[in-house]
Amino acid sequence: MSLMTGEEYVESLRKLKLNVYYLGEKIDNPVDNPVLRPSLNSVKMTYDLAQEAEYEDLMTTTSNITGEKINRFTNLHQSSEDLVKKVKMQRLCGQKTAACFQRCVGMDSFNAVYSTTFEIDKEYNTNYFENFKKFLTYVQKNDLTVDGAMTDPKGDRGLSPSKQADPDLYLRVVERREDGVVVRGAKAHQTGICNSHEVLVMPTIAMRPDDKDYAIAFSVPTDAEGITMIIGRQSCDTRKMEKDADIDVGNKEFGGVEALVVFDDVFVPNDRIFLNGETEYAGMLVERFAGYHRQSYGGCKVGVGDVLIGAAAVAADYNGAAKASHIKDKLIEMMHLNETLYACGIACSAEGHATKAGNYQIDLLLANVCKQNITRFPYEIVRLAEDIAGGLMVTMPSEKDYKSPEVGKYVEKYLVGVASVPVEDRMKILRLLENICLGTAAVGYRTESMHGAGSPQAQRIMISRQGNLAHKKKLAKKIARIED
Ligand code: SF4
Ligand code: FE
Repeated sequence: MSLMTGEEYVESLRKLKLNVYYLGEKIDNPVDNPVLRPSLNSVKMTYDLAQEAEYEDLMTTTSNITGEKINRFTNLHQSSEDLVKKVKMQRLCGQKTAACFQRCVGMDSFNAVYSTTFEIDKEYNTNYFENFKKFLTYVQKNDLTVDGAMTDPKGDRGLSPSKQADPDLYLRVVERREDGVVVRGAKAHQTGICNSHEVLVMPTIAMRPDDKDYAIAFSVPTDAEGITMIIGRQSCDTRKMEKDADIDVGNKEFGGVEALVVFDDVFVPNDRIFLNGETEYAGMLVERFAGYHRQSYGGCKVGVGDVLIGAAAVAADYNGAAKASHIKDKLIEMMHLNETLYACGIACSAEGHATKAGNYQIDLLLANVCKQNITRFPYEIVRLAEDIAGGLMVTMPSEKDYKSPEVGKYVEKYLVGVASVPVEDRMKILRLLENICLGTAAVGYRTESMHGAGSPQAQRIMISRQGNLAHKKKLAKKIARIED
């Protein structure tokens, strides 16, 4: 089997014995939990779309390892064209879910770990590359979802991992055994962890020689002993638990959740270790993973942006304001911003190049420019969407009031916009806008645009390193006829 159907994916998750907590309680059945299920549905979409002939070229490809047909989310990119298709696939998935579909962190970590382990093995004669290939073959053959886990809690940002007051604030090796290592620590903001079969852990920053125990990369099943997932709260999250609040949730079917994932003395067997103490390679791994994930945002956020722009345009139609020139102009501005983000995602892909291991990597400078724009433009797109939507987006009565035998008639009478549009439809589109602008999906669309794949300053550091200012100075001096 190399492609699972969406239903098979859901069933495969039921077999996992995940240790998940939400609102202080252990969730025995995360698959059917009303708050978690929309998030799982978003990942399921990556399986469903791969079954459709229309999307076969985007959603599937041929494995360079096994020669078999695989889901593109498990692919090692073989060309710039592959990188471009990756971004297009992510835009498509964003359009179909209006949420974070979570499976990209795995894909991005595969490509970063593959090329980095190849280079470590060349220098140190280690066996990480073979270990990783074996792991990825297993992932591809079983069409698994893997959570790429990078971000440590980090404690005091002014101190390196080994200098923290609590040594567990960065995930580390606490015991070395003949057959493997035992790790302790946590990974924060883990998108999709409770919808994944495996977790692939990587270091979060470049390391110094005395951070040896922290330079560790590995993979374990998400239900390995010692792993605990604590789901993060999101604005308006408990609406998903309410009865008769289908309109109020805005996006009933899809969503995304993050978790704090604790590794409390988790055993990692030798053949699942991909970096162990080679501190100088931690930075390379981080840089490559971050580069791929910054490219990813030029696809997924654009797809969600498409839905948001569409929702704002529908709201304008329903308000009877669609013909106003300033509304038209605002929609044009939103599209301009969204397509600029897409252009960055495509550009860093088209300028990709082969790594020493053979898989393709994005242009790092352009990927960082892509993500830097994403820390800004979705905020402006949201601002314009709220402008077009009007205040009713946040003051509108609930579905229960709309359906109430006492006050429902007032809601029906006074929430009308264009007379031919059912009030229920107007409520639905405004709730969708609320969901993406400041509800549960805002985690994925707004704040994740700021901090996901690295906060803005991380991109500025990369831009300063990759931007080649010295070359620009030379160009200027030459034109100005200044001798060096
Ligand atoms: Fe994929 Fe975007 Fe979610 Fe990252 S934020 S996992 S790129 S959908
Ligand atoms: Fe993300």
